[in-house]
Amino acid sequence: MTTIFKKTPNKEGFFGRFGGQYINEDLKKEFNKIYDQFLQIKKDKLFNEELTDLLKSYSGRPTPIYFAKNLSQKYGAQIYLKREDLNHTGAHKINHCLGEVLLAKKIGKTKVIAETGAGQHGVAIATAAALLGLQCDIYMGQIDIQKAKPNVERMKILGANVISVSSGSKTLKEAVDASLNAYKDEYQTAFYAIGSVVGPHPFPTIVEYFQTIIGTEARKQFMRITKSLPDYVVACVGGGSNAIGIFNGFIDDKKVKLIGVEALGKSEKIGENAASIAYGKEGVLHGFKCLLLQNKDGSISNAYSIASGLDYPGVGPKHCYLNKIGRASYQTISDAQAICAFYELSRLEGIVPALESAHALACAIKLSKKNCGKKILVNLSGRGDKDIDFVLKNFPMQKVRF
Ligand SMILES: *Cc1c(COP(=O)(O)O)cnc(C)c1O
Repeated sequence: MTTIFKKTPNKEGFFGRFGGQYINEDLKKEFNKIYDQFLQIKKDKLFNEELTDLLKSYSGRPTPIYFAKNLSQKYGAQIYLKREDLNHTGAHKINHCLGEVLLAKKIGKTKVIAETGAGQHGVAIATAAALLGLQCDIYMGQIDIQKAKPNVERMKILGANVISVSSGSKTLKEAVDASLNAYKDEYQTAFYAIGSVVGPHPFPTIVEYFQTIIGTEARKQFMRITKSLPDYVVACVGGGSNAIGIFNGFIDDKKVKLIGVEALGKSEKIGENAASIAYGKEGVLHGFKCLLLQNKDGSISNAYSIASGLDYPGVGPKHCYLNKIGRASYQTISDAQAICAFYELSRLEGIVPALESAHALACAIKLSKKNCGKKILVNLSGRGDKDIDFVLKNFPMQKVRF
C-alpha cells in the first residue's frame, strides 16, 4: 500500500523498537498462525467483497467529509471533518470489528473473545458477532460495568455474554488480562478480538489494516472536494486505531502534517493523564513494547481522561515509531479544552462529538488560530450520544474559551 506501511512491522512484529510479542511460546505459535491466515485472507476476493459490502450496506460507508463552515469562519483555518461518527454503532470501531469477526469466521472459529473499557469496543464486537453468527464473550471490569450500564445492557441484548472482572483496579487493564487468559484455554475455537492497534503482534497490524479504509476514503474525498491535500490531519489517540487509519491515507504525502492528540486529562502529573507518548517511558504491557505511563518505581500507572476511550496507559507501537522517526507529531489536550470543543461543535455545527473526538477538534481549533486559511482535516471518530448525560451533569454549559 504505502511505503511506510509496507516496511513495518518486521518479522517479529516490531515497528523500530516497539511492538513485538512478549507472550508465552504457545500463544506466540497461535498468533503467528493467525497472522499467516490473515495475510492469506486479505488477498481473497470473496473475503474482500463480503467485507466491502458489509462496510457499505451495513455500516454506511463511505462516511462523508464535511466542511465545517461556521467553525472555520470563527477560527480562521478551513476545518474539514471525516464523519466516522455516522457509522453504525456510532464510531470508527465497527470498521475493525467487522473485519476481525469476519476473519474469525473465515478461519473456522465459532466464538470471539474481547475486552472492553467503557463498553464501546464490546458493543461493536457484539454487534459484528450477532450479525455474523458467532458466540461472543466480553470481559469487563466490575467498576466499568457499573459506570457504563447502557452499553452493558446493549451487549446483552445483542446476545453477548458479559463477564465481570473483579481483580486489581477492576477496569480495562484487568479486563485485557482476563480476556487473554480465557483465550489461552479456548484458542482452538475462539478468536481474540482486540479493541485498538495494541497488544502483541499481529493484532496492531490486523486492526490497522481494517482501519486504513478511513484514510483511503479520506484522501480521495479530500482531493475531490478541494483539489488539494490537507495541510494537517488531526486525530485523537487512545490506542491509536482511528488515528493510524486516517494517517495511512496521507503517510506518503510528506507535506501533510500528521498530528495525534493524546489526553492531558487533569494535568501533566503521572496518574492524571493518558498521554503515553508525551509522558511515558519504554515498557511492556499486554504483550507488546510501547511508551508506557509508569510510576517512579517502574510499575504501570493508571491512566486518566474524561474520555474513557482514551484512558489506556500504553499506546500502539506504530505511533511510538512514527513519533520516533518524526513522521507524525503528538500534542496533548486537557479535559477542560475537550469539553469546550464538545460544546463548540454542538453549537456551531449541530454535531455532538464523542469526548474522544472532541480532543482532536480542540487541537484543530488551537492550530486554526496560527494557521489562517490552512486546511485541517479532523477525524471525527465518534458521536457524543454516550457522553451527553455525563457532560450535562458535570460540565453544564460552559463558556467557550480557547
Ligand atoms: C475507542 C474510541 C477512541 C479511541 O480509540 P483509538 O484506538 O485510539 O482510535 C476514539 N474515539 C472514539 C469515539 C472511540 O470510541
